[in-house]
Amino acid sequence: MKEILFLEPVFKSMIWGGNRLRTQFGYDIPDEHTGECWAISAHKNGDCIIREGTYQGRHLSWLWENHRELFGDLKGDAFPLLVKLIDANKDLSIQVHPDDDYAYRNENGSLGKTECWFILDCPEKGSIVIGHNAKDKDELKRMIEEERWQELISMRPVRKGDFFQITPGTVHAIKEGTLLLETQQSSDVTYRLYDYNRLDNGKPRPLHIDKSIDVIRCPHEDTPTGKRAWRDGSLYMEELISCEYYTVLKGSLKGDGRLIQDKPFMNVSIISGEGVIDGIGIGKGEHFILPRGYGEFTLSGNMEFVISYV
Ligand code: ZN
Repeated sequence: MKEILFLEPVFKSMIWGGNRLRTQFGYDIPDEHTGECWAISAHKNGDCIIREGTYQGRHLSWLWENHRELFGDLKGDAFPLLVKLIDANKDLSIQVHPDDDYAYRNENGSLGKTECWFILDCPEKGSIVIGHNAKDKDELKRMIEEERWQELISMRPVRKGDFFQITPGTVHAIKEGTLLLETQQSSDVTYRLYDYNRLDNGKPRPLHIDKSIDVIRCPHEDTPTGKRAWRDGSLYMEELISCEYYTVLKGSLKGDGRLIQDKPFMNVSIISGEGVIDGIGIGKGEHFILPRGYGEFTLSGNMEFVISYV
């Protein structure tokens, strides 16, 4: 099909959220602590609506159920990917996600969660938590019991344009001031290990210490990213990651470029600038899906975008 599926984002208020989804992306956000924009999602906790065209007003989950041909007749109960923008005005909890097998057995058949982050903005001396310093499970348990959080967590500097792959079992946290685009498996299973003893409506948010200990990989190992890059005239493309669940590419365009959609489907998020795709104007903050069979497409303008597909 040669019709672009533009999506209406779903917003989520969070105790750690801010207002940059309005100030930097121009969205009509619900309040001043909006933490997440679910930009391409068919998850039941935030199911995007098609903005215009043949399927205007339909949820993405409905399209997945009723027009699977748009997604290359892929198998599976759920649209497999979820693309979010995250505005961390404060630190997010230190957390970890299970893999498919653990989530299936312990979370009512849910999928596990592999996710990745492309950093859109962060403070000058920003940091991020990825990994931990325990050499094995015994040491991990001891450090958690003794609340030696600073020693346990692995904090590292972060810069605009950085990219991180967070495999299941990786301790991680987004820190204050970071704005990022997340591509992930369509899952909402998070185990909270430590929440800085914060209160939400007067109560601490629940922790999941035992499940966290079950799934945290010891010792931590970074997942390598950034496999290849190529230039085609005015278009510069980088493959940020290619794993079992998704491939994520970052594109930068200054002029005209051509790409081909030959996958079951292709998610596109415009993260800066503006331009035109096949005669249709697009700009920062727009997200869309190119369905199966879309084929070759022409882009022009001055913009950056992130593409994902299974
Ligand atoms: Zn996470």
